[in-house]
Amino acid sequence: MNQKFIPLSVPNLKGKELTYITHAVETEWVSTGGPYVDEFETKVAKYVNSKKAVSCQNGTSGLHIALEICNIHNNDEVIVPTLTFIAAINPVSYVGANPIFMDCDDTLTLDVKKLQLFITQGCTFKDGQLINNQTHRPIKAILVVHVFGNMADMVGIMSLATQYNLKVIEDATEALGTYYTSGKYKNKFAGTIGDVGVYSFNGNKIITTGGGGMIVSDNENYLIKAKHLTTQAKSDTLYYTHDMIGYNYRMTNLQAALGLGQMEQLETFINIKKTNYEKYQYEISMIAGLDLLKFRANTRPNYWFYALYINDIFSMNRDELITYLLSKNIQTRPIWGLISDQKPYQKSQTYQISLAKDYWQHVINLPCSSNLSSSDITYIIECLKKLVRSNLD
Ligand SMILES: *Cc1c(COP(=O)(O)O)cnc(C)c1O
Repeated sequence: MNQKFIPLSVPNLKGKELTYITHAVETEWVSTGGPYVDEFETKVAKYVNSKKAVSCQNGTSGLHIALEICNIHNNDEVIVPTLTFIAAINPVSYVGANPIFMDCDDTLTLDVKKLQLFITQGCTFKDGQLINNQTHRPIKAILVVHVFGNMADMVGIMSLATQYNLKVIEDATEALGTYYTSGKYKNKFAGTIGDVGVYSFNGNKIITTGGGGMIVSDNENYLIKAKHLTTQAKSDTLYYTHDMIGYNYRMTNLQAALGLGQMEQLETFINIKKTNYEKYQYEISMIAGLDLLKFRANTRPNYWFYALYINDIFSMNRDELITYLLSKNIQTRPIWGLISDQKPYQKSQTYQISLAKDYWQHVINLPCSSNLSSSDITYIIECLKKLVRSNLD
């Protein structure tokens, strides 16, 4: 077999990354100081129309800081989705709070109807605080995840959050570049609608700094606190006085140099991913038993990950299809195992989780790198078409 391996999602570093990195090395600014960090922060903030941005080590540390600046701590509860990557949920545990797991809707993001049901039937709103009837603990925030680059229903979520005095933390680690094209939040980017938003620049994300993250907010005090906490909470840089327990969560100048080169190509990457998505979409719509999941209406998604739904009438189930495609040198993967099913969270509260289970059983992600070629897609489609029942004998 001569077909080269087609990976699921890999970096694309063909811009000025090497120039900037070389400059960082030549000027010997390779650690947490240096001009690229500021430049990268400014560039991201400008792109998403946020006042400012604070860089950090990765998306996970950014979410940890986001929870701290929203004052979520011990004994508090946070509403979270079960269908996500565990890095979105672990920071809730880092601050000693407890997650309450929710179902997803057909965009794979937090189901607002069930969220509302839970709030109105499972909680009591008293003295400006939402109390969980089951645990009698205060619910302080909703942590929403924009899964695969898909905007969660921020109109519904923000309206409930305002009504019930909840903070909204946006895990926009997968959704840099996604924004609303109409409605209440027209032109607002994923990550900039709630109280705090976090992006990730891990190797598989739409742009990468190797590892890295960014915190955005319209609340200047939050960002000041974020910078403080990510830099060891140093209140005097000469005498080394510290007024809080901080973290060493800073991004390095090397990472930021890479990031700057990547940011310059972000819109190009999104355009390529859109074109590839549409090609897949067109072809897959003609394959009986398979559907490519759609992104939310009235948004411009970043088209980060493509989700293929395998109907029961299809000749193979999820695991068989993954194995088959791998034998054809095509890398795919199932959605993450639901977080409420993972060992550390099996005792956590869940609320009417059903659709997430169905998607978990039926969805795989198709190769989606921005350097995926049109002939790669044609090949992948050919492999899928061979599996339609009528083509099998
Ligand atoms: C990637 C990712 C994270 C964590 O980002 P890192 O930079 O890898 O720490 C968090 N949540 C989701 C949904 C992610 O996909």
